[in-house]
Amino acid sequence: MKKALVTGGSRGIGAAICRALARDGWKVYINYNESGDKARALAEETGGVAVWADVSDEAAVRAMFDAVGDVDLLVSNAGIAHAELVQDLSEADWRRLFAVNTDGAFHAVRAAVPGMIRRKRGNIIIITSVCGVWGSSCETAYSATKGALIAMAKSLFKELGPSGIRVNAIAPGVIDTDMTACFSAEEKAAMAADTPLGRIGTPEDVAELAAFLASDRASFITGQIIGCDGGFAL
Ligand code: NAD
Repeated sequence: MKKALVTGGSRGIGAAICRALARDGWKVYINYNESGDKARALAEETGGVAVWADVSDEAAVRAMFDAVGDVDLLVSNAGIAHAELVQDLSEADWRRLFAVNTDGAFHAVRAAVPGMIRRKRGNIIIITSVCGVWGSSCETAYSATKGALIAMAKSLFKELGPSGIRVNAIAPGVIDTDMTACFSAEEKAAMAADTPLGRIGTPEDVAELAAFLASDRASFITGQIIGCDGGFAL
């Protein structure tokens, strides 16, 4: 059975990706940081395994991969958001966003890649954001971390392609998860109205794209930054 590891898999987009992959026959390793109960419940539901690591902690990520072993698919999904005017943004918040969103993806990729290169096959999906493509007012730090992930994906697919490893990124628009729970119903309605398809997205919308990219049906697709946003452009 092919093995997938999804960072930040206990809830939201990550959990939907875990469910879609399990449905498609993957053995899913569900990484969590704080939501152990949710991750274990999802593992029971999907026949997967809950594995702890704070992705910003390089040693913890290495220990997690040592325990899991080689994986066929890495979905780097763990992330945090922060909205603030740039002049009020603290150094600590800037660094925290990079530590989780960007360093976290780097730690997971670096731990996953040696086994993929050894076996001459592998697949990496990085969850970035429309903010990383277009930028977003009051989300300078978050957008910068997500833009860095796009540059990372664009470098990785070139470096790893000759080893049989595909690398793609998904750039979701506004998706209904805990991350967007800070928006009021009115704000969500306004964002839906600004979206050509007339609604905000669900975690399942993103999960179906990830499941496709994970599958052999996408075997000639690499180096793509694919929007999943209903046409919403910031
Ligand atoms: P969410 O807050 O529900 O999920 C984030 C997940 O990341 C959680 O499981 C959380 O525990 C995990 N996480 C956070 N810090 C971690 C750490 N240090 N170590 C390990 N795990 C950690 O939000 P979501 O919307 O499901 O977000 C998933 C991804 O999608 C994120 O990378 C986010 O930036 C991205 N994204 C979300 C939206 C949206 O509108 N919801 C839009 C674009 C991109």
